[in-house]
Amino acid sequence: MLRVAYLVAFVGLVASACSAAATEPVAVPAATAAPESTVSSPLEAIVLPLSLYVVHDAADADGSSWSSQRDTARLLEIAERMGDIWADANIRFEPVTVATIEAPTEALVDLARLEARTFLAGAGVEFEVPDPGVLNGFYVADLAGVNGFAPNGTRTFYVTDQPSVHDERVSSHEIGHLLGLHHALDDSGRLMFGGTNGMALTDDEITVARYFANGILDAVR
Ligand SMILES: [Zn+2]
Repeated sequence: MLRVAYLVAFVGLVASACSAAATEPVAVPAATAAPESTVSSPLEAIVLPLSLYVVHDAADADGSSWSSQRDTARLLEIAERMGDIWADANIRFEPVTVATIEAPTEALVDLARLEARTFLAGAGVEFEVPDPGVLNGFYVADLAGVNGFAPNGTRTFYVTDQPSVHDERVSSHEIGHLLGLHHALDDSGRLMFGGTNGMALTDDEITVARYFANGILDAVR
């Protein structure tokens, strides 16, 4: 168990629950390179640092309800698959920390109500994110029926153990929110549409997401 010192003082927490996710893993093909080109995309690659955490219940002695059943190897797979889903924007994700952490039951109960304040306030919990500029994904046992959520004003997102659809798509959708994207309402084929298997990013979404992604990099480099 990795024990750590507390990190985050995010502000303006407003939860937006997301039921959106895919039923099928979809590989997004990279743009075809020009014959003389050595690059596979017209866009410069953006590599975002990402920390992923399996969240256990600190009071859970028997492996029951509030501890995620995922493992860190699975989180690494998710990070790689998210790069496929975000390929049209040429945004990839570099895991800088993948760890298991413990949180108090109270914080996990609040997360199941889509309230991250207790968790982020560090009440009774200690963990550390190496750089607060990175995106932080937390994989938890239960979010009370939603697949994931990404509180506004944070660089954190949360994914339930048993989403109704693929967890790579849930994670990619939540990161879309962290990169400034809102829900799509008119096209079920889009990544930001709720409750479908859509993976597509529009040109406008790519522009916005890359702008936010570069802002994150400017803060950490
Ligand atoms: Zn959403």
